[in-house]
Amino acid sequence: MSSSSEISSKPLKSRTRRTILKAGGTLLLSVITPMPAMASQLLAVRVWPSEDYTRVTLENDSNLKITNFLVKNPDRLVVDVEGIDLNSTLKDLVAKIQPNDPYIKQVRVAQNRPGVVRLVFDLKDEIKPQVFTLEPVGEYKYRFVIDLYPATPPDPIASLIQKGNWPKDQQADSRPPMADAKPDTPPPAAQADDAQIAKMAPNDPKLQLTRMITIALDPGHGGEDPGAIGARGNREKDIVLSIAKRLKKKIEEQPNMRVMLTRDDDFFVPLGMRVKKARKVQADLFVSIHADAFVQATARGSSVFALSEKGASSAAARWMANRENSADQIGGVNIQTHDRQLASVLLDLSTTAQINDSLRLGKSVLDEIGGINKLHRGAVEQAGFAVLKAPDIPSILIETAFISNPEEEAKLTDNAYQDEMASAIMSGIKKYFAKNPPLAKNKMT
Ligand SMILES: [Zn+2]
Repeated sequence: MSSSSEISSKPLKSRTRRTILKAGGTLLLSVITPMPAMASQLLAVRVWPSEDYTRVTLENDSNLKITNFLVKNPDRLVVDVEGIDLNSTLKDLVAKIQPNDPYIKQVRVAQNRPGVVRLVFDLKDEIKPQVFTLEPVGEYKYRFVIDLYPATPPDPIASLIQKGNWPKDQQADSRPPMADAKPDTPPPAAQADDAQIAKMAPNDPKLQLTRMITIALDPGHGGEDPGAIGARGNREKDIVLSIAKRLKKKIEEQPNMRVMLTRDDDFFVPLGMRVKKARKVQADLFVSIHADAFVQATARGSSVFALSEKGASSAAARWMANRENSADQIGGVNIQTHDRQLASVLLDLSTTAQINDSLRLGKSVLDEIGGINKLHRGAVEQAGFAVLKAPDIPSILIETAFISNPEEEAKLTDNAYQDEMASAIMSGIKKYFAKNPPLAKNKMT
């Protein structure tokens, strides 16, 4: 396919350094030269395989210059990294590629020329690579990221069918075509208030019973982004995935509900992509699952958040939204493609109806969670969470408990508590739909 770049033969950084050393005297140079002091330090290599894409991260103490190109027959991705020498950290990459990696068969690592290491990824399939660097953020130094996306992106509905999570009689083609924009589709239960819905319900019982409800479940963080970390080392990303999987099972037991997870494994999904996935499957609800953290270990209790149109409902809610919205920086997005993706998701549609529905859903879920854990606040809070910005899907973000509170960290890792939390969210969702029956999805059918 496209071979995108040239193999650079520009002088390496070490040349400048050497010039400086020369000024210090020939003797010094001869002493210093054998030491690899010029090469920057590769700190870690990480691999995050998933069906969506496989990510390889090289973390380094300074920025690296990278070139890459694709080779056909067989498919390979060649990546040249300038400014480092082959070391054991880099060699570890070879063993980190799992046999079941969806996209990488194996990787070969070799010193290509002085100061340049070449990585050759033998591919299982044709891929579209995205190669980019990330500035230091949080705990991370410079990260060099190689994302291997499938040349043909999987259809989220097709993969639901494949996993048995989408009834065959309701396949994609029996549903309306999915445009990115759906200006003709009213937000579910948006324009009608409770009284109106109550009046409408008896007239159309069949429609309510037969229409499948699709829930998008969004376990926060993942991959490079661990989320908050408890004093005992438990990571938010693992806990919320576990709770989400429990909730997924419970949703699947409902006769009229199906579920889509924005991630079902330990990999990072950009915030905008989570919203996009939910819209792709025309989700009726979007439920993002997190665990809270605060500097003071005494902070405790569960909270539920909805989007806000005009500022946050409290300083704490604003702080929380900022923290959750920083996931993209830590998880790592390619800003060149990211803005384009977001533009197609965040349409300039009014979100008032969405927010009203989200507040109702949030209240229903918060009431149920109040039965199993203390509430951080007694009401649904609001702030500008990026992940809640689907203009046409009622969306809430649940902070299940404070992972920074030792007592609640213990709860969060407890199977029974995780299950209770999943059950509470489930009954909150059911009670919401009992009061706000899903309307006919669209006028096209
Ligand atoms: Zn979080």
